[in-house]
Amino acid sequence: MNFLEEKILIDGVIKPGNILKVDSFLNHQIDIDIIRQIAYEFKRRFKGTEVNKVLTIEASGIAIATLLGDLYDVPVVFAKKSETANSTDDKYVAEAYSFTHKKLNNVFISRPYLHATDKVLIVDDFLADGQAAHALIDLVHQAGAEVAGIGIAIEKGQQIGGKLLREEGYHLESIAIVESMDWEKQTIRFREQDGADLTQARISAE
Ligand code: 5GP
Repeated sequence: MNFLEEKILIDGVIKPGNILKVDSFLNHQIDIDIIRQIAYEFKRRFKGTEVNKVLTIEASGIAIATLLGDLYDVPVVFAKKSETANSTDDKYVAEAYSFTHKKLNNVFISRPYLHATDKVLIVDDFLADGQAAHALIDLVHQAGAEVAGIGIAIEKGQQIGGKLLREEGYHLESIAIVESMDWEKQTIRFREQDGADLTQARISAE
């Protein structure tokens, strides 16, 4: 079990509706040591990949992106969410349905912050249906730039996003992949990433 899986078991809370709450270290309070380990793990997994920009979406991806941008010594850009944005001369705009907020968002990036020469490493806290990741990919492509890879802290493997992105040929690295969660028993099963069996454990903190 890796450091992030262990942290999820200690501090994560499973909520009804297939939601994993990790507010104590990622989505509300930020545990810098864990975020730093996530950034180092992405740097290790994307070794040999050329990256000249790190891209995420507000808000929870920003902490991870910032520490990773520091490791690569490249600019960090976060896409902003807006209900009203339209594509204009100064913005790239894409649509994303929010899994947690159950609404359609436009996400946008001002044109000066993405260039056709960019090799972009996309990062985010969670991957569920892949809406946020696909919106970010769309923005990168609108700029004529290249997706160097996609780094996700926690992938919910029972949702479709990871499968789609892998089928589309992207280099996707997820540090923890949740295979299944049981809200009533507070148990969680992670996908073993080195080819061994699934690991299952009980969440210890509520
Ligand atoms: P997707 O766009 O892949 O469907 O969902 C990814 C986004 O939804 C993430 O940026 C994250 O904010 C949110 N999200 C999806 N599932 C969960 C979850 O179980 N827990 C938390 N905390 N956020 C989630």
